[in-house]
Amino acid sequence: MMPSSLYVHIPFCASKCYYCDFNSYVSTGDVIDRYLDGLEKEMELLAAELPRQPLQTVFFGGGTPSLLDTGQLARMMAILHDHFTVEKDAEITVEANPGTVNLDKLRTLKAGGVSRLSFGVQSFHDPILKKLGRLHDSLTVYHSFDKARQAGFESINLDLMFGLPGQTMEIFRDSLQKIVELAPEHISAYSLKVEEGTPFAVWQDRGKLELPPEETDLAMYLLLMETMEAKGYGMYEISNFAKKGHDSQHNQVYWRNEPYLAAGAGAHGYVNHIRYVIQHAVPDYMETALSGRRPVVEQNWISEEIRREDTMILGLRMINGVEFQRFRERHGVDMHQVFGDVIERNIHKGLLVKDETVIRLTKRALPIANEVFSDFLIS
Ligand code: SF4
Repeated sequence: MMPSSLYVHIPFCASKCYYCDFNSYVSTGDVIDRYLDGLEKEMELLAAELPRQPLQTVFFGGGTPSLLDTGQLARMMAILHDHFTVEKDAEITVEANPGTVNLDKLRTLKAGGVSRLSFGVQSFHDPILKKLGRLHDSLTVYHSFDKARQAGFESINLDLMFGLPGQTMEIFRDSLQKIVELAPEHISAYSLKVEEGTPFAVWQDRGKLELPPEETDLAMYLLLMETMEAKGYGMYEISNFAKKGHDSQHNQVYWRNEPYLAAGAGAHGYVNHIRYVIQHAVPDYMETALSGRRPVVEQNWISEEIRREDTMILGLRMINGVEFQRFRERHGVDMHQVFGDVIERNIHKGLLVKDETVIRLTKRALPIANEVFSDFLIS
């Protein structure tokens, strides 16, 4: 399979959130300009080296791509179009943070072919946003969302988080209420995971991070699903909900375990059964790219056994599950021949359900999906 998707990492943020372990740095305009020089070179090398089809999905993630100024955003889009053929109706997403956009920037993105924006809202409760180390407040969310609509964006995702320090059911319910009132086309909602090396991990070790108990976290997830269903958002993945026709095409490439290209510091790509990783540190990344070499630091060949596991683990994240026929076409073997025991065991536990064509998680399994996924690790 030749990739028709591209992820581009922009590793800059206005400040670092306390829970974040993404590859992102607080930097100034000069560094960003030089980073774009490196990115341009890397994209040129990537386009020359790896086979691909015209792009159907592109995702500029971060970091905070919307931190770039108008000229830098125009350049970012020009780099894409100069080196890649992008389908006319491609889904091009740019991640943004409330408070980092204005009409000029948004119109520039629109003119560059961006069809979808994804805002990191996380909560509508200002004290919680402060506890997360976010720079925006809830009012800024409304302003930025408004600007995005004014600029003509008709496909907008808003990210929410739950299981946050100081977050009660009432506070989360209020955020849910406010997000559906805004009526974005897509909502993603994730439970906080304390990642090593973050301030949250340090505070947790010192007993200074008070998180809601597990039962509350679960109750929040159930409330999320219930609210989304009641408000007409289809759940198509365990953390993703969309109005009809607005499922994220790019993320589905990952969940279907299909190949994709990646560029930018710290990005991961998957082509010809090889998962590759780009240099994390911005100075190293720029130096390598500008010297005319692709800044790839790691390449791992993925064996057929692991590919089969990935197809199941990633595919079961989607509410529509994994089709038997697709698995057979992809892997040349019947799903039951490889995973028959795991499947039967989980059906027996009421965590998986199948019909003639497809296998999927049951509703009961959604909050404990990781338990089912780990069962598919058999190699
Ligand atoms: S804005 Fe996003 S990428 Fe940047 S520090 Fe916060 S969570 Fe991390």
